[in-house]
Amino acid sequence: AQDCLKQIQDQHALNAFVHVDAELTLAQARLADAAIAAGTAGPLTGIPIAHKDLFVTEGWRSTAGSNMLKNYVSPFDATVVRKLREAGCVSLGKLNCDEFAMGSGNEHSAFGPARNPWDPSAVPGGSSGASAAAVAAKLVMATTGTDTGGSVRQPAALCGVSGIKPTYGAVSRYGMIAYGSSLDQAGPLAANAADLVELLDTMSGFDHRDATSAEQCQGVANAPGRIRSEYQSANAQYAAQGAQPLKGLRIGVPREYFGDGLNNEVAQAVEAAIAQFEALGAKRVDISLPRTQLSIPAYYVIAPAEASSNLSRYDGVRYGHRSESYTDLADMTARSRAEGFGPEVQRRILIGTYVLSHGYYDAYYLQAQRLRRMIADDFQAALTTQCDVIMGPVTPTVAAPIGHSQDDPTADWLADVYTLGLNLAGLPGMSIPCGFGRGVSGSQLPVGLQIIGNYFDEGRLLAIAHQYQ
Ligand code: GLN
Repeated sequence: AQDCLKQIQDQHALNAFVHVDAELTLAQARLADAAIAAGTAGPLTGIPIAHKDLFVTEGWRSTAGSNMLKNYVSPFDATVVRKLREAGCVSLGKLNCDEFAMGSGNEHSAFGPARNPWDPSAVPGGSSGASAAAVAAKLVMATTGTDTGGSVRQPAALCGVSGIKPTYGAVSRYGMIAYGSSLDQAGPLAANAADLVELLDTMSGFDHRDATSAEQCQGVANAPGRIRSEYQSANAQYAAQGAQPLKGLRIGVPREYFGDGLNNEVAQAVEAAIAQFEALGAKRVDISLPRTQLSIPAYYVIAPAEASSNLSRYDGVRYGHRSESYTDLADMTARSRAEGFGPEVQRRILIGTYVLSHGYYDAYYLQAQRLRRMIADDFQAALTTQCDVIMGPVTPTVAAPIGHSQDDPTADWLADVYTLGLNLAGLPGMSIPCGFGRGVSGSQLPVGLQIIGNYFDEGRLLAIAHQYQ
C-alpha cells in the first residue's frame, strides 16, 4: 500500500486519482496484514485496488467527476465497494472519470483530463479512463469501472489492459451513481483475464437493494463462486483438448465491425488475434449484425433520456452543489444545475428531456426502444445458431490526442459503434490487449480485441481470453 501511495504521487501527471487518503488506505492494509497473520486470507486479501469515482464510498468523497458532487461524502459504500473491501482488497482511493460517466476520453471531468500512460498527449479512453490508466501505469493491480456504452472495454483497449462488462443484472448497481439505469453495469479492469476472474466473481451476486439484480443466471444462483467455477470448468475442458484447446469453438466475426471507418492497423491487430484463436483450434464464422450502425442513434436517445430523469435529483435542495445567489426556489434549482453540471452533461440532459417530451416521445424514444429490441434479437440470432462467441474491434482507432473532440462533441459518439450494441442487448463483453497501432503523435498505442458472449457467459469468456493470453 505504501509503494502504491508513492507511485500515485510520482505519477501525479497522469491525473488518475481525484481522492487519496493515506490513513484510510493504511487502515485497510493493516486489516489485510492481520488476516494474513491469522491465516484467514483469501485470494484478494491485500490486493491494491482503486474505484472509479462513480461508486459511492464511506469516508472518501464521491464526486462522479462533477462539480455538482465536488464535496459529497456518502454515508454508505456501494455494494461493489463493500464486497471488494470485505474480500480484503486495499483501496488506494477514487479515480478520475468523465462527468457522470458521459464521455469517451475522460476529458469531460471537472477535475481535468486523465492521461494515457503510453503517451501523455493521448486520452486514456472513457468514461473509466483513469481506471484503465491506473492499471496500465501499475499504480494499483486492479480497478473498478462502469460500462453504460463501452466505458470499461474502450479505456481498457486504449490503455492496453483487460476489462470486462458483465451481463446486465450480474453485478449490483446499488451505490453506483446512475447514468442510464437500463444500461449501466460495473466491471473490473486488470492486467489479464485470470485476474479479472477473482475480481468479477467477488463483485457479482444478487442484491435485493438493486431492483434489476438477477437472482439466477441460467438456472445457477447469482452468487460468488459462479464465475470462478464456470471459468475453472471451461479451462479444464480446454486443457483436456491438448494442442487445440479451443477446438469446436465457433467465433462469429460480424462483417459490419470491419467496414468503413476502421483504422487499418487496428483491423490488422484484431485480425491477427482472431487468427491466433484459429491456431488454437477455434473456427471462424462470418456473421452479420445488420443494425450495428443504428445502435448509435438508439443509444444516444435512450441513454440521455434515462440520464435526464436520473439527474433530476440534483436540484440544489437535497444534496450536491447549491448556488450562492438566487431569487426564489425555481431560480435556485436553475442556477445550481447550471453551475454544477458541465457542458457534456447539460447537452445530454437537453437531448433526454427533448426526446421524452410530449409530441416527440413516439418519434424518438419509442422508436429507439423498438430498435433496441431488434439489436438484441440480432445478437441472439447469431449467438444461438451461428456461433458461440463474437469477436471484433473495440474501437475504430487507437487513442486520440487530448482535445481532439473540442469542436465537434458528437464525433466521439460515432466511435462507440462497436461497444453500444451489447449494452442495449444486456450482453457480457470484454476487451483484451491484442497489439499496437500508430497514434496521431506517432507513438505506438495499444489495440483491444472485443469478445462478446451470450447472457451470463462471463466465466467462459474469461477462460477463452485466458487461452490467448
Ligand atoms: N461513450 C459513451 C457515452 O458517453 C459510453 C459511456 C459509458 O459507458 N459510461 O455515453
